[in-house]
Amino acid sequence: MSLSSPDRRSLLKATGALALAPAVALAPARTAAAATAAATGTTTQPFDLGRVRLTAGRLRENQDRTLAYLRFVDVDRLLYNFRANHRLSTNAAAPNGGWDAPAFPFRTHVQGHFLSAWAQAHAATGDTACRDRAAYTVAELARCQANNAAAGFSAGYLSGFPENDFAQLEAGTLKNGNVPYYCVHKTMAGLLDVWRLLGSTQARDVLLALADWVDRRTARLTQGQMQALLGTEFGGMNEVLADLHLRTGDARWLAVAQRFDHAAVLDPLAAGQDRLNGLHANTQVPKWIGAVREYLATGTARYHDIAAHAWNICTTAHSYAVGGNSQAEHFRAPNAIASQLTNDNCELCNSYNMLKLTRELWQLDPARASYFDFYERTLLNHVVGAQNPADPHGHVTYFTPLKPGGRRGVGPAWGGGTWSTDHDSFWCCQGTGVESNTKLADSVYFHDGTTLIVNLFVPTVLSWAERGLTVTQTTSYPAEDTTTIKLTGSTGDTWSMRVRIPGWTSGATVSVNGAVQNVTATPGSYAVLTRAWASGDTVTVKLPMRVALAAANDDPGVAAVTYGPVVLCGNYGSTALAALPVLDPASITRNGTAGLSFTATANGAPVALGPFHDAQGFNYTVYWSTRSTSGFRLLDAGSGLVLGVQDMSTADGGRALQWADSGTADHDWELLVDGAALRLRNANSGKVLGVQDMSAADGAAVLQWADNGTADHRWTVVATPDGSHGLRNANSGKLLGIAGGSTAQGAFAVQAPDTSAATSRWWFLPTGTRRIQNVASGLLLGVSGMSTADGGPVVQWGDNGTADHLWTAVVDSGGYLRLRNANSGKVLAVEGGATANGSRIVQWADDGAADHRWRLRHGGGDSFRLQSAAGGRVLGVAGASTAQGAQVVLWDDNGSADHLWRFV
Ligand SMILES: [Zn+2]
Repeated sequence: MSLSSPDRRSLLKATGALALAPAVALAPARTAAAATAAATGTTTQPFDLGRVRLTAGRLRENQDRTLAYLRFVDVDRLLYNFRANHRLSTNAAAPNGGWDAPAFPFRTHVQGHFLSAWAQAHAATGDTACRDRAAYTVAELARCQANNAAAGFSAGYLSGFPENDFAQLEAGTLKNGNVPYYCVHKTMAGLLDVWRLLGSTQARDVLLALADWVDRRTARLTQGQMQALLGTEFGGMNEVLADLHLRTGDARWLAVAQRFDHAAVLDPLAAGQDRLNGLHANTQVPKWIGAVREYLATGTARYHDIAAHAWNICTTAHSYAVGGNSQAEHFRAPNAIASQLTNDNCELCNSYNMLKLTRELWQLDPARASYFDFYERTLLNHVVGAQNPADPHGHVTYFTPLKPGGRRGVGPAWGGGTWSTDHDSFWCCQGTGVESNTKLADSVYFHDGTTLIVNLFVPTVLSWAERGLTVTQTTSYPAEDTTTIKLTGSTGDTWSMRVRIPGWTSGATVSVNGAVQNVTATPGSYAVLTRAWASGDTVTVKLPMRVALAAANDDPGVAAVTYGPVVLCGNYGSTALAALPVLDPASITRNGTAGLSFTATANGAPVALGPFHDAQGFNYTVYWSTRSTSGFRLLDAGSGLVLGVQDMSTADGGRALQWADSGTADHDWELLVDGAALRLRNANSGKVLGVQDMSAADGAAVLQWADNGTADHRWTVVATPDGSHGLRNANSGKLLGIAGGSTAQGAFAVQAPDTSAATSRWWFLPTGTRRIQNVASGLLLGVSGMSTADGGPVVQWGDNGTADHLWTAVVDSGGYLRLRNANSGKVLAVEGGATANGSRIVQWADDGAADHRWRLRHGGGDSFRLQSAAGGRVLGVAGASTAQGAQVVLWDDNGSADHLWRFV
């Protein structure tokens, strides 16, 4: 519901609940039964649920746990409120608690979810207990409906609360917190699924009688009254009624569906405007799904525009790295991500609904692989991970906390504030949870009659009965980057298989029977294999994964870590975190060559990283600070060690020494420009580098001290012939060096005489993930169009916060480093490995070529030239342009201002 309506939300606040919001649904009506209406625009079809069986793997485990619960839940308890309201015996059943308690305003919202889940479970697995439970419930709902005259209700009415709530809703006087059409939508959607998937004519009859009641109830209202009513959450009424039209061919249901077109929400979306800020999130998504169904029913492009714009806006400006959206159930300001990391992120229902929307939109645009990139990311990281694998009934978390130190198992206050329970929660998300986990295989494969499309990499067996073909997919993806698809049976003539190549991969290959095929496998597209297939043919798809950072839209210094489709989170055990841990992105290392176990350095200490869907039973962080790291490491040219402070002291007098680069904060030095010199401020202690007692003697100890302005705190940078730097003390004239020219770890820093000792020369290495700003133009180094492809041109661009403006320095040898782009994972390179003036700078896979290696040459103040290891030319801007979009190129080191860059 919208914020302007005082109903359900305020009631829940009054009762101590955080709130809620749900939605239900079903797949597009497609199995022919009675007459059907022609659907516009799509030739790509899903396979019926029963055609695809999950085999051993995480998704199958989720399904099995939910199946156990669906067989266990007490059906008579679920019928309690319906029977009581329709004046039938409750069969001595105990009433439920939580959101199905007899006094809860929108009780009987959840039963429709169970009808859908039971029907899906039977369709997907053949489970007869679930089938029988659906049939029993439908029969009892028919009895309730048949008793309406005795109960004082209109014909067709069906719910667990008085019909008078609708009269109050229409009059604008409903104040008890109910969202009555929301509940009716769930019941209708559940009945439709039982009709569609189990072939129940009784479900059809109950549904049509209820739809008839909806028609009679709403036909009497003016358009103004109807629009006012739509201010109260109503689920996907437009969706289920459009489905009913598509399934029956009866235009009456389309007209009723369109009465539920909520102008205040849909009109701005039709115009591509993001007006979501402040709206209750899951109230809106079902309306967008309804818009797609209305497009299928009418062919009216505006409906498609609404849904496509809504998807773009939601996924780009309102979604977290795990694919979920919402904070405390609401959409926040566009791009508010880092500023909205709380315990109450990512309501499960929202992602359930976004996956439905994504699937629908993809069917209308099946060449657009990015739809299923989002689907995969959200399914894996949010929806699958929302189930508790330690619970044999597979209970779910309502919110998925994204605050630092969050832990799954968080529900609203009304319902225990923890995982859902057998009979005392029944929130919206519990309903969408049982639905989600009984249709996990429904989008793995699609077809258009002849072409087979593989969208998800999940161990499954597809029985394509019309063709006598069996497709067996075997994989432990995403723990491995490879999947195997074997065809057996009647393979038929020449036909095509289309395999999604995700946008995050690089160097994907597709093989048949072990031979790599010469097919285009561009990331973010479909590889098409067309051949005369033989039974036993085996397709192997390899999708190399790499570590990348997904920066928050509103703060480039905050990012999640991804590896292929997986979000990696940090395992903090039982430790509470007061703030985002400060991650050294260059430290992220995979443990071995298989699996999803990583380690990294954060807050100066090692931390284990693993896949977020497996982050169960411990505190985690999904987002990290990647900024703190505002300074530079000073790498000694003689020893290869970095300058730090003994024992990470924060006291005046702490001795400077050299140490292996372990990522601790005392290795990080900020450059403070002080006239022609620099002060070097330690990031750990805040103190600056000086000389003991302002001594001018050789060998005097170099130490940290409060930044009190004495001359020994200033250092001038001196270029040396090999490109390293001397650091000359402004007070003594001596150089920063290492005692005795030692190359040992722990050797103290001293001031040294002006000799050619390598241990008195230093390389600057920018710490952490940084933006690189051109001094002449003020613009940032970025990648044109945020490309993730090899060869993506590197240009200068305004600071709009996109992740392609972030670069992490990876230490190479000889004072060189590689600059890795946070968006693409590729590194700064020269096109074709060229060395000539004007050669274009591009990004390229990090394969160790010489043109990928750069070193910093001090350029005055806190600016640097970036010098290529291949040929020695430096980074500049074509024509010394100051325009946004200008190409970055290689050029002679001639002192031009466009050659200077600052790490910000
Ligand atoms: Zn929910």
